[in-house]
Amino acid sequence: MTGRMSTYRRIPAEWIDPAVRAVIERTVRAAAIELGIAPPGIRYFREGTYPGADTLYPGTDLGRDLRGYVREIDPYTVYLASDLTPHEAVKFAAHETRHAWQGQRRGRIAAEDEETDAQQFAAKWLRKHQKGR
Ligand SMILES: [Zn+2]
Repeated sequence: MTGRMSTYRRIPAEWIDPAVRAVIERTVRAAAIELGIAPPGIRYFREGTYPGADTLYPGTDLGRDLRGYVREIDPYTVYLASDLTPHEAVKFAAHETRHAWQGQRRGRIAAEDEETDAQQFAAKWLRKHQKGR
C-alpha cells in the first residue's frame, strides 16, 4: 500500500467550541429520545497527532475527512469530529445517533442499507428541526 494514512485522535470535549458542543449534545439527546434509545455517550476526535493522545484504530485507514462514526462493538457511544460547523453538528449528530440505534437494534436494517438509512434519517431531521429558524 502507498499513500499517507489518515490518523485520528480522541480529544477532550472541553476543546470543542461550546456552542457547537451544545448543539451536538442537544441533537443526540433529542434524536435518541425520538428513536427510543438511551442517549449515547459522545466523544470527539480530530485528524492528526499530538503527544500522549489516544489513537483511534491504530493501523487502520479510516479515510480522509471523517466526520463521525459509531463502533460496531460499542453502539452506546457516538464519535464526532471536533471541527463541525453548527449545521454539520446537527446533521452528523443525528446521523451517528441513528447508527447507534442501528447497532442497538441489530437486524432491523440490513447492514448494506445502514449508511443510506442514517443519511435519510439525518436529512429528515434537518428538514424537521431547521424550519422557521
Ligand atoms: Zn454513516
